[in-house]
Amino acid sequence: MAANMQATFLGWMNGSGAASTWVPVVTDPRYETFLRGCFPGLLADQKSYNTVWTLYNDPAARPLSAAQLTWSMLYTAQILPAGATSAVWPGGTTASADGATQWEWRTLYMPVGPAENTMKRLMVGVRPLPRGHINMANIAFVNQSQQQWRETAPTSGAWTNATNADGSPKVTSLRTSYYLDNCATVVIVCDAAGGASNDFAIGNTPGEGAAGVGGVTGGPALTWFLNHVRHEIGHAVGARSLAGVSETGNTFATTFGGWAPSSAAAIKAAPYWTASGTKKLNVGGVEADVTAAAASDWLAGLIETGGEPPGNAVTNMAGSVPAKLGAIDVAWAGQPLTGYIRAITNNGGNLAVKDSAYQFPGFTPPGPDVVIWSSRYNPSGWTKYAKAAWSACVPKMGWYSVSSPVEMFAEMYTHKYSGGALPDAVNGKTPTTFFAELEASTDTQFQTTGAATGGAAPTNPAPARPTNTLPAG
Ligand SMILES: [Zn+2]
Repeated sequence: MAANMQATFLGWMNGSGAASTWVPVVTDPRYETFLRGCFPGLLADQKSYNTVWTLYNDPAARPLSAAQLTWSMLYTAQILPAGATSAVWPGGTTASADGATQWEWRTLYMPVGPAENTMKRLMVGVRPLPRGHINMANIAFVNQSQQQWRETAPTSGAWTNATNADGSPKVTSLRTSYYLDNCATVVIVCDAAGGASNDFAIGNTPGEGAAGVGGVTGGPALTWFLNHVRHEIGHAVGARSLAGVSETGNTFATTFGGWAPSSAAAIKAAPYWTASGTKKLNVGGVEADVTAAAASDWLAGLIETGGEPPGNAVTNMAGSVPAKLGAIDVAWAGQPLTGYIRAITNNGGNLAVKDSAYQFPGFTPPGPDVVIWSSRYNPSGWTKYAKAAWSACVPKMGWYSVSSPVEMFAEMYTHKYSGGALPDAVNGKTPTTFFAELEASTDTQFQTTGAATGGAAPTNPAPARPTNTLPAG
């Protein structure tokens, strides 16, 4: 059957309500025969796109081959095969002592072919997203990355696997998923056989709240896998300037959140810390004179150094960190800085918290600006954002939405396309208005026509590190 007749047929089916008649008789073999026989390649028009999804019907029921075929006919984005070398992250350069020999380094994310269930779950994940968004990045299912090097001077060499001292390949098992902007690739963590290793509910710990979109009580329920698929594609969309859209998603979220660098001085000043003078600090029955300034230095230093800051008057006292936190709370009761440090360190029990210091259950920020340690902000360190954004985002989307501006956008994106209601306007920025602009864009980067081609060509290395997603579990 000619392609134009197929388009006519699909258009008729899509508009006539005939889907209820057709879907039950389009068995798996018929479905694949229909698609292969009827279309030369990628489906261009939206009606055909919608109708193929209707015929494909339940992604959980169709086999791997049907999922792969459907993907190839709906999207220009590639699912990278095993052996593909386009998913990379630049690792800088090194040189010999005399500078005569130079090397370049990179991390190669090694794709594995998705297992049947992984591919089915991917189809569930992308189904609600605008088609053009899925074409913004290739997808790689990855279990391990390999460090590689090549000589760049005096001669140009081939990429070579780096090895450990014992000669074994220098590989790292992935713990989470990434969006790599330098090569426009979404990396989804999986097991060595291509199975979805994180396809379990995000859930919600009582008293702590949800880690991210999909775990908030009363909101959309997602597995980590589904969150990662939508979230990483959200990063790909949020990073781009698009025709008809006034700013990038990442810039929108930066202004919405009021994100800006802060400082240790800011979190050691009002309204986080308003104490002054000197007090007797009593730790385990032993007293010492400690200034309020030294106490606030010690509190902030716990996070900055991952331990008690050296040379500090509180550090010099005997006793555990939890005991000293308690003593500071007695001497200078109710200081918000102490409350923040308590919340992120589990009352002083865990000081390796730089990566999770955006999450402070039970603590209410004292002023119009929330000050946190952010390992995901660029540059990482003390960072501030609007308390109004905290109030608008955390109850709806969970904690990860306040970990950095780009994560805020990716979680908003995930939330919207998982059926959640977007947060209200903050700082004059209205998410529903922004997403309406985004969906109306016909930018050519949302390519939906033409033959699918190889992996996106790597461009200049991005200055920031890969944008990652909260590890599952
Ligand atoms: Zn992310």
